Amino acid sequence: MNARFLEIEITGRCLYKCRHCYGNFPKKGELGLEKVREIIGQAKGLFDCLIFSGGEPFLHPALPAMVQEAAHDFLVFITTSGYPISDEQLQQIKNKSILVFGMDGIGDTHDTYRCFPGAFENLVQTMDRSRDVPKEIIVTLWKGVIPEIDEIIKLGAQYNAIVHFNGLIPVGRAKNNPDILPEPEELEQLYRKLYQFKMAGGSVVTDLHKVTEKDTEAGIDLFCRGRFNITPLGDVRPCEFHTAVLGNIYTGSLQDIINRAHMLCIIKSREEGFKKDIRLDLKNPFDYHTTICHTLPCN
Ligand code: SF4
Repeated sequence: MNARFLEIEITGRCLYKCRHCYGNFPKKGELGLEKVREIIGQAKGLFDCLIFSGGEPFLHPALPAMVQEAAHDFLVFITTSGYPISDEQLQQIKNKSILVFGMDGIGDTHDTYRCFPGAFENLVQTMDRSRDVPKEIIVTLWKGVIPEIDEIIKLGAQYNAIVHFNGLIPVGRAKNNPDILPEPEELEQLYRKLYQFKMAGGSVVTDLHKVTEKDTEAGIDLFCRGRFNITPLGDVRPCEFHTAVLGNIYTGSLQDIINRAHMLCIIKSREEGFKKDIRLDLKNPFDYHTTICHTLPCN
């Protein structure tokens, strides 16, 4: 069984405006410490790992307290843009969490993509100051990052970080920026390249998956099995890329919402890797998210 992840978007605040941002951050909403404590309590037994994200979670003053509480029962991840994190904050989350840094290119490529001059410098400085904290780098596979992949892998090795290459899902701001989406042929080449890196023993992971006939029998080995997401306004969704609202933690308990969600066609199908819903006529066989998952009934 996959580790079950609950991603909590604790704040809608963010300094950046990344071109692919699935949630169109910055936006309204923030979960207070007491609400997050309640969520942590209710998540026990339902989830194995908690991800604190945003927006930029380090802009939430109660993040260290949330991490300390969650670390008693969960493996904790914090996804961050590398916004200058203070040494005090680093000390508070050290030994209790894994930092997950978003990197979309080297130098100017990253800055332009994040619409923030100096964003890459911020990120590298923060990675440097957190050398003794376990860390990962997440790279969203947009068109402009493709020529810089080898350099990013080298940087990952330099900072002792696993590098995750994630497919770009055309939702949120990415939907309005179609020029950033790689062509299926480019994805095909990347898919092979990353596979070779992995086979050669590199610290590289990818969720890129090409839908083929064998998925109709075995199902897709989805990274999102068992995953759910909570927005800064308390909406519970299948994941951060899906807009279906399964309930709201201000009007129902997390346990009830998740237990009910497991009865829905979309979640049942997802837990089986969509094996009965696989279609082989996809224009882009790497995008099962919007072409299969998003078309399934949510009631
Ligand atoms: S397959 Fe569906 S639930 Fe899984 S990550 Fe994609 S959109 Fe989210």
